[in-house]
Amino acid sequence: MTRRLFWDDAYLREFDARVLSIDGNRVTLDQTAFNPRGGGLVSDTGTLGGCRVTEVVKEGEEILHVLEAPPNFRQGDEVHGVLEWERRFRVMRMHTSAHILSAVVNGETGALITGNQISPDESRVDFNLEDFDREKMSHFVEEVNRAVKRELDVKTYFMKREEALANPGFVKLANAMPPSADVLRIVEIGDVDTQADGGVHVKNTREIGRVVGLKTENKGKSNRRLHFTVE
Ligand SMILES: [Zn+2]
Repeated sequence: MTRRLFWDDAYLREFDARVLSIDGNRVTLDQTAFNPRGGGLVSDTGTLGGCRVTEVVKEGEEILHVLEAPPNFRQGDEVHGVLEWERRFRVMRMHTSAHILSAVVNGETGALITGNQISPDESRVDFNLEDFDREKMSHFVEEVNRAVKRELDVKTYFMKREEALANPGFVKLANAMPPSADVLRIVEIGDVDTQADGGVHVKNTREIGRVVGLKTENKGKSNRRLHFTVE
């Protein structure tokens, strides 16, 4: 299993790793700072040993770095990885915002999150909510910004699965974790939200800046979509 350096330090922009395998343009490493696509988050991009990393995906417990072309390094080599930091940091700000937004909507309406897509420029969260419009969106986003301004610390830690599952608030995104995992990673945003989550977040909500609601969409009878960005 590839060691996930981004779980210990989401701010790591460069790292060294040993190449475990190369299959065409797909490379696995003993450790990586590249966050793979998953849980609604787009993957990181950057370079590995000077080769362009266009996407990073999970395959079972492994993390596959997909390169633009087959690399000139070999299995067993040590390579240097560099993240495209501007993109990653926006994803972190968006992701923490999405958790706060979900907590606000869930707290006020009881609605559950049915999907999300976190991208650097624009993100969206889907809720099973029947009654939703622009005015409600503005209200929710205002509440999110109120929480953001409280400069809440974001903590991550690991917890035994059965312990986490005993807390109903923790399991909203538990399916984003490998089903076999007996230890879950928990992300706690101040007193606003705590849940099992494998993605990258900012350390404090002050780094988010301001959340801006862009538009609402109806996606089926009781499925509502909210598009937002950060600035
Ligand atoms: Zn998440």
